Amino acid sequence: MDTIIKQASERNAQLTTWRRFFHRHAEVGWTEYITTATIAEILTELGFEVLLGRDILSADKRLGLPSADTLTAAKERALAYGIDARLVEAMDGGFTGLCAIMRGSEEGKTVCLRFDIDANDLTESTDDDHRPHREGFASLHAGSMHACGHDGHIAVGLGVATLLAEHRADLKGTVLLLFQSAEEGVRGASGISDTLLSAVDELYGFHLGFALTETGTLGASTTDFLATTKLDAVFTGAPAHAGARPDGGKNALLAAATAALQLHALPRRADGISRVNVGTLYAGEGRNTIPARAALSAEVRGETTAVNRAMTDDAKRVLTASAMMHDTAVDITTVGQACALTCDEALAKRALGIASKLGIFSAVHESVSFGASEDFTVLAEQVQSCGGQADYLIVGTELAGGHHTDRFDFDEHALVLATALFTALVLAD
Ligand SMILES: [Zn+2]
Ligand SMILES: [Zn+2]
Repeated sequence: MDTIIKQASERNAQLTTWRRFFHRHAEVGWTEYITTATIAEILTELGFEVLLGRDILSADKRLGLPSADTLTAAKERALAYGIDARLVEAMDGGFTGLCAIMRGSEEGKTVCLRFDIDANDLTESTDDDHRPHREGFASLHAGSMHACGHDGHIAVGLGVATLLAEHRADLKGTVLLLFQSAEEGVRGASGISDTLLSAVDELYGFHLGFALTETGTLGASTTDFLATTKLDAVFTGAPAHAGARPDGGKNALLAAATAALQLHALPRRADGISRVNVGTLYAGEGRNTIPARAALSAEVRGETTAVNRAMTDDAKRVLTASAMMHDTAVDITTVGQACALTCDEALAKRALGIASKLGIFSAVHESVSFGASEDFTVLAEQVQSCGGQADYLIVGTELAGGHHTDRFDFDEHALVLATALFTALVLAD
């Protein structure tokens, strides 16, 4: 344990450099070409077998892909940056993310660590008291910013990989380091092929900050994940002259507006907490035309996967009925999905024991409440349904601005602590 702590501490500067590189080159979900290629190069160099994009993703199961134009722009940005054309080509069409594999010299369990790698749809603050701006590592990409700490998650993943490469002789069994795309909007995990994780005995994921905002604290497991479904609905009607032919069109705006009101009127449930939100609604072509098109984005959540499923069914019915009410058509797409999760007690206890033994955390909580959604739960459900176990941890870190705000920043010292912990989780008996 002492060796791991020492080695992680020696990587302090490198961890910060990595974090700041990925912060500077922030890429949102499914556009992480520079990010994935950079991770791939480092891991290949360290001796890992690297499965890129298409090797680990099911094309049709990826949710919430950006437009073809956005994907092309991201690809061209990566090529202009100097990323190897073969790597960029291998990821063409938004096949980003990778899984790195290292097999030990002895038989043993298969452990998977999952790190999410995407940025948020935000433009970073240019205030002088915002450290990334002041110290020159703010995002170079307008509209993309690491405002959730996934840049830190990547740095930890690379830190763990570096330490594992040094400890290869001590490694028993197999370790998978999964660098997953598009966690924001809970889109990426559903795209991971079922077969990738079928042999995983232990799956660990984590988040920096969030429920714990003091550096040095740790949550050994997490409760209160909300299952969620993200829905896009496009209503199509027919245009007509609003003065001469008020009865001649089919009003898509009214269909969408009806849906928005009725979605928020869905009753609460006896079998668990639920949520519903209509986040955006765009409709209409001009003041004096019956609106022929409307687009609405909504989400539902549930305390359990079953509650969320019921809310999803209700929401789809309201969308369909609202369209019918105004004689319009509606096209509903699921663009994100996460389930609920109960962390396995045995893994939570193991993490608690190892963290306590390491002695680098000022406070180790048995479990902390998450209160939001994470698509790690989709991977965890896959692993648990195949007989494996899963645990999600929170590594505390002081925050400068809240998650998902343009002034987000965190205390980079947490990177060393997380690197030591996750290396120990792989190597400890
Ligand atoms: Zn986030
Ligand atoms: Zn996050």
